[in-house]
Amino acid sequence: NLAAAVATNVSLVLGTVAVLVAWRAEAEQKLRALAMTDGLTGLLNRRGFTNQGDNLLSHAWRHRLPVTALMLDLDHFKQINDTHGHEAGDRALQLFARLLTETCRSGDLMARLGGEEFGVLLLHNAAPAGHAFDTRLRQRLHEASASELGFVLDYSGGMASLLPGESKLAVLMARADGALYDAKTAGRGRLMAAG
Ligand code: GH3
Ligand code: MG
Ligand code: MG
Repeated sequence: NLAAAVATNVSLVLGTVAVLVAWRAEAEQKLRALAMTDGLTGLLNRRGFTNQGDNLLSHAWRHRLPVTALMLDLDHFKQINDTHGHEAGDRALQLFARLLTETCRSGDLMARLGGEEFGVLLLHNAAPAGHAFDTRLRQRLHEASASELGFVLDYSGGMASLLPGESKLAVLMARADGALYDAKTAGRGRLMAAG
């Protein structure tokens, strides 16, 4: 029966096309996620941070929620690579990323922005919570780096809280970056707030 054979063939082709379309959509979704992820640490990369940070700021803006940004940079990291080797440096970056994740709350955003530099957005939080976050993270880092790496890691941080009228992630992060520079010049191993 010809009609039945044609119908079977057509439905077979349509079924195959449906599978291919679904597969392609899934592959595209995976690629998009991969493009926003840092391979070494599994954190968001700079692109992912910018992408999701803009969303977080619009949300905070709509609901009038406070947001505090942190820029964190590991201290004397070049020296750590030179002394302990590049692989130990990589493990140090992975450890830092893990502790960052453990110290954040759900709704917060964190990313490896590049090299040994990390960004954090604390939602619902003003400057005091930023200081508390820094204290918890630094304590954990000192303990865990000594026991897991065999040397002590430290970092410098700059902090800025979202100002009324400020809606651009880049502006907020630039203020945190300025404070990070102040923390470096003041002797490292500390958090400083933007003025
Ligand atoms: P400072 O305290 O002023 O921040 O000094 P620093 O040495 O940390 O800063 P600098 O920018 O001079 O050096 C950053 C180093 O980070 C140099 C680079 O080799 C290292 N680095 C960047 N990305 C990676 C990485 O993926 N793995 C390892 N092991 N090292 C990295
Ligand atoms: Mg550094
Ligand atoms: Mg750096």
